[in-house]
Amino acid sequence: MSPSPTPAISSHWPRHRAGATLRIDLDAIAANYRLVRDRVGPRTTCAAVVKADAYGLGLAQVAPALQRAGADHFYVAHLEEGIALRPHVTATTRIFVLHGPLPGTEEEFVAHGLTPVLNSAEQIAGWRALARQQEKVLPAVVQLDTGMSRFGLSMDDVRAIADDADLLAGIEPTLVISHLACADTPHNPANARQRARLLEMAALLPAAPLALSASSGIFLGPEYHFDMVRPGAALYGIAPNEDAPNPLRPVVRLSARILQVRDIAAGDGVGYGLTYRAPGPRRIATIGAGYADGCLRQGASQGAAWFGTTRLPILGRISMDSITIDITDVPAGQLGPDMAVDLLGPQHDVDAAARAAGTIGYEILTSLGHRYHRTYVAGG
Ligand SMILES: *Cc1c(COP(=O)(O)O)cnc(C)c1O
Repeated sequence: MSPSPTPAISSHWPRHRAGATLRIDLDAIAANYRLVRDRVGPRTTCAAVVKADAYGLGLAQVAPALQRAGADHFYVAHLEEGIALRPHVTATTRIFVLHGPLPGTEEEFVAHGLTPVLNSAEQIAGWRALARQQEKVLPAVVQLDTGMSRFGLSMDDVRAIADDADLLAGIEPTLVISHLACADTPHNPANARQRARLLEMAALLPAAPLALSASSGIFLGPEYHFDMVRPGAALYGIAPNEDAPNPLRPVVRLSARILQVRDIAAGDGVGYGLTYRAPGPRRIATIGAGYADGCLRQGASQGAAWFGTTRLPILGRISMDSITIDITDVPAGQLGPDMAVDLLGPQHDVDAAARAAGTIGYEILTSLGHRYHRTYVAGG
């Protein structure tokens, strides 16, 4: 499929009706996909994880952009997410549902062309029962718990299958996966332990391609690539670890509108609880995004907006719909009502915002609110 140039697409309401604009760069997402795919090489399939509305960035826009970049295998968490994704990708595109079928939902997987990840003996039994009922062989991914204790078959479950092949009757395991708990800390010995455990457990099962790594695992090196990788965060520009410069392109820019500017005097308080007191005269601005838009309250004390390269510290508490910032350092006349400052952008990426808020980039992205004017940039 050759990507045809698409102009910038805007969704939701017009810019002038919103307090802030979220610009999502689909070309950067595509470039990040290609960077990861090139890193793992042609023998490893590079899938794309688009759960949680493509990490808050918009499944309907992001999934087709990833498909144009070459992705043909997608992961979501829930059945509903898989059903929502189906119309946005080609009919032959594989969609894997990480949480697998809840009891009684197996037929919906088949009806919507979704491949479940089977995480337990119960899910295997449910899938086996449907295969028997439909008199078909049904493909599935099998997940193994190699040490994270979250999802997947235990060693006892795997031994039971090794002892009784009928437990997989009617099921074609097209892929065996596991998930790393500590991949963002490259020197953590848990990574190698989980890798060894995957090989040990998979050896007891029918031969199938293997997959272990999400974004951070990919950057641990080729021995973690196996037959498929499943990046999510990396596609959206989040750094794989803190040990190396981020090789990925930033994807989002969040610009909030200045709603009011005022000059305050020494001793004046700002915001709920008056937790900020001006130590001297200050020029301050109130901007149109708040915690209801995903600007985490915990991020207030270390947080900032940016005007070009000028850092504008957040003052006091973050409100539901607004944030007050210190613009004293901007020369008079340069910044006024209706102009915009960046909350996420070139000077302050998702990882920096996360550090300021004491969280991770994943939470910054998936918290992004639904009141922004959203602009998707593609074909640039
Ligand atoms: C969310 C998730 C991924 C993607 O992880 P990233 O760190 O965002 O790349 C991959 N595999 C599983 C099982 C997941 O839950």
